[in-house]
Formats: sequence, C-alpha cells, structure tokens
Amino acid sequence: MIVIWSPRSEEHQTPPGHPESPARAKVMGEVVEVWKRRGGEVRAPSVAALTQLARVHSLEYLDSIIGTAGRSVALDPDTYTSPETAEIALLAAGAAIDAVNYVLEGERRRAFAFVRPPGHHAERHRAMGFCFYNNVAAAAAEARAQGVERVAIIDYDVHHGNGTQYLFDDDPTVLYISLHQFPAYPGTGAVDEVGTGPGTGSTVNLPLEPGAADEDYRLLFSEIVLPILRQFDPGVLLVSAGFDAHAHDPLADMRVSSEGFGAMTAELRLVAEECADGRVALVTEGGYNLHALGESLTAALEAIGPERAPEPRWPRSSATPARGQRTAAAARAVLAQFWQI
Ligand SMILES: [Zn+2]
Repeated sequence: MIVIWSPRSEEHQTPPGHPESPARAKVMGEVVEVWKRRGGEVRAPSVAALTQLARVHSLEYLDSIIGTAGRSVALDPDTYTSPETAEIALLAAGAAIDAVNYVLEGERRRAFAFVRPPGHHAERHRAMGFCFYNNVAAAAAEARAQGVERVAIIDYDVHHGNGTQYLFDDDPTVLYISLHQFPAYPGTGAVDEVGTGPGTGSTVNLPLEPGAADEDYRLLFSEIVLPILRQFDPGVLLVSAGFDAHAHDPLADMRVSSEGFGAMTAELRLVAEECADGRVALVTEGGYNLHALGESLTAALEAIGPERAPEPRWPRSSATPARGQRTAAAARAVLAQFWQI
C-alpha cells in the first residue's frame, strides 16, 4: 500500500470562504504524517503528461487550462484558478495516474492518492464544480492503455460525477457506479442514465434522497454495488473517494459517519481481492467539513492500509434503510436487464 501526496496541493488557492479551500490540503497532510510515522510509504506524484490527459480531455481544453498559469481566472461560478492552479492540477492528475500504475506494477496492490483540486465534475471540454482535470478518469484511461481489459470506478462522493460518467458513457470497458444525493448539484445522475451505445448498462446511477445514512449505503452496497462489481469482474478498481456525504458536511444533506466511509472502503477492498487480484486505487474528491474530512480519510486509510483486509465495520443501526430500499427498487427496475441484482 502506498500513499501519493504532495504538500504543494495547498498552493491551489480559491477565493475566501470557498469550501474547496487550501485548508483541506492541511488536513490531508496531517493524515499523511500519521501514516508516515507508522512506517507507511509515501511518494510524491509525477506531473501528468499531456498525452495521458489527452485521453480524457480535448487538446483545446488542455491548452486553455495551461494558459491560466500565473493568472486568477473564474472558469465557472464555482471554479477558480489561482496563479499556481495549472501546475497543481497536473500534480493531482499525476497522483491518480501514479496510483493506478503502482497497483498495476504488482509489487503494491493498493494505493491512495490524496489530491486537490478534485476531478469528477471535469468534462472533456469543461472545468466545473471545483474540478479542472478529471483525475480518476485519467487514471482509468491509463489502466486501459496499460492493457487492463475492464476498469471499474466507484464514486461515493455525495455529488454525481457527471464528468466521469460522460467520458465513459459509450465505453463498455469502464464501469461507472455512483451513489449520490439526488436531486443536487450538478443535476445529473438519474437512475435511468445507464450509458449509451455499446456502453449501455455500464453506467450505474444510485441516486439517494437527502438524509440517507450508513444503513442506506450498506443496503445499496450489499444488494447492488457489490453484486454488479462481481459480475463485471474488473482488472482494477478505482474509487472516487469523496467524503461530503458525511453528516457534518456543509454542502450536502446526507448522514454518513466517518466509520461508514471506512466500511464502504473495506467492502470495496474485499471485492477487489475477489475479482481484481486485490488491485484498488483511491483518489480523493470532495469533503468540506475539515474535521469530518480528517476522520473519514483516516477511516478509509485504515480500511485500505493494513496488509490484511479488515472486516467492514458498519456502524450499528436499528433504523430501516427506507431511502436505500427505494433507490434499490428504482435501480432494479432499470438495471435488472443488464445485471443480476
Ligand atoms: Zn462532492
């Protein structure tokens, strides 16, 4: 297991009061320090190559982002560059690509890229939702270029990863599964968005009503996410690890606990051991309450870090997972033609 991290993540500045603040990098750095003190391996990321990014972004778009170097520019109402952003975003994408390459080399089976800016909203031609380069998509494209036949991306960030979905919409070799609050930003991710053309069925959207908690996520993992992953049988599992479904997050209305993120991560690790030779790479996305972010990152790291996989420890709950049940029923109605669920 290896952590990929650059303290330079802090250099991407956002306007005062912006939730995707440099303080998030401080929290990431503290979690990395604890990992390091316990003897964990940490490496600095490579700078993503344009050839790697051009698999998921247009050259015109890449030029436009590189062209913001040295300048502060508003690319959409939420998404701002600072003079350093062009460079730091290349490190974030590079970290995600490094993570997948480390796990494919074989010596290490698990990697965790701690990055900012996040990536899953970035589309082929467009920056949005605090994202510039689609880090996890670039990692998936790298895995395909390295010869992996099937790549699965699980996105438990509370927002739908519109960018990741669109980039692989018609591609049957990349499975995209998202659990997200719906309706919410960015508005996409309805259950009937299942992919297009040859990719039909390889997009799995699990939209949840506000207020969903650990028990709802647990139900969706056991009834939908894990069965589909086993049937898809990926060569590597990538995780868009956003922690903004946390009960204390200021941008969304879910009630997931820090332990819940640990349990989801542990479940994904186990399924990777079943069907992907244990190969799993996590890439951070959102998570905007700094305390909750630190706790959730630590819980995910504890699930993925140890040599021996821990049992998923879902917090005890006696609540009926009513929101999860409604989402599972809606998903079955649309997806049962593609998957045994
Ligand atoms: Zn998010």
